Amino acid sequence: MNRFELLQEGRLSPVPEVKHPEKLGHSALRAYYELGLRFCETESYDAVAINQFSPEDLSRHTPGPDPIRAVFFSPNESASKNMHADGKGEGLLVINPRVRTKSNFAYIPEYCGSIMSGRAWYMILRPKKFIFSGHIYIPGVQFEYKEHLCESPVSSMPVHERDHLDGLTAISRTIAVGLMDLRDAEDWRHLCRQRGITPERFAGIVKNENQPMHSFNKKTGRLELIDPNELQIPEI
Ligand SMILES: [Zn+2]
Repeated sequence: MNRFELLQEGRLSPVPEVKHPEKLGHSALRAYYELGLRFCETESYDAVAINQFSPEDLSRHTPGPDPIRAVFFSPNESASKNMHADGKGEGLLVINPRVRTKSNFAYIPEYCGSIMSGRAWYMILRPKKFIFSGHIYIPGVQFEYKEHLCESPVSSMPVHERDHLDGLTAISRTIAVGLMDLRDAEDWRHLCRQRGITPERFAGIVKNENQPMHSFNKKTGRLELIDPNELQIPEI
């Protein structure tokens, strides 16, 4: 079976809204759903935006090379349970996903299939509470507009994936203002205040990672690979 190579940072194009989701047709919807499911199963991801797939992969598995404005969530992702009509954990395709922020932001750790092919963790500011909406499609089960209040800071995946549909990743300029520089005292103070933890406790979490982590570099505006064990904790 051929492996999927997601488009990498800088190659994602913004995708326009689907004007009439109800006119998409079940065979097309099913093709995007199956592609998302196969990708998440074979590559162990919890979600993917349809425009992360290459035109070649889209041509092979869907009606054409152009993506639609939709995100697939795997059965493991909390959105799948929360937005399912019966609360079951089935994968779902969300067409025209929208996010309305309802709270302040907090730093959370993330990785992304379009940044270093998912091999790097980074810290980013995401809303703690937001309303997620869109047309939900599950083959043979559900096809309807739905809204859901997401309150857990653990999954900011709907926000992350919605950004991809706008052509953005965490290192795109417009989002980068929210990335944490692990060497920056001001960012540490901000994070510890937001999360109500001590700098020592956060240092322990970072050093436990045991794998290279990307840190935003405020000076260069890029992510850089760092070894958590060699990280100098800034004086706070
Ligand atoms: Zn991503």
